[in-house]
Amino acid sequence: MRKTKPRHKARKTEDAGLTRQDLDRFRALLIEQRKDFQQRIERLRDRANEESPEARGELSSVPLHLADLASESFEQEKELAMSERDSAAAVEIDEALERIEEGTYGLCVRCGKPITRERLRTLPRAARCLRCQSQEEK
Ligand SMILES: [Zn+2]
Repeated sequence: MRKTKPRHKARKTEDAGLTRQDLDRFRALLIEQRKDFQQRIERLRDRANEESPEARGELSSVPLHLADLASESFEQEKELAMSERDSAAAVEIDEALERIEEGTYGLCVRCGKPITRERLRTLPRAARCLRCQSQEEK
């Protein structure tokens, strides 16, 4: 008598219930968002260069009020944080695009379970299911 072997099927995008059309749509979305992030990163970088006194050659030529100085550096810090977030998001998008190519898109990278369609729609670059995401953030 032949024993039926358990089939170890590698988890693939099909397990996430995504069709080829879904994938095409998500890929297009990701590429679009990738472009947006890239543009924002470049814009912030350009502005950071323009705004630095060294770049304007105005270093210490104008007496600065402390308050101005503080708010300016606060703005710069905010923009720096923003551009860091954008860079991280751009990397996540690249990884999501890679998963599409590999055929593992739509599956949680942590537990391997399908990520819900709703989640992917709000965040196409999501690498983890909601449960794993919230556990990771703890
Ligand atoms: Zn998970």
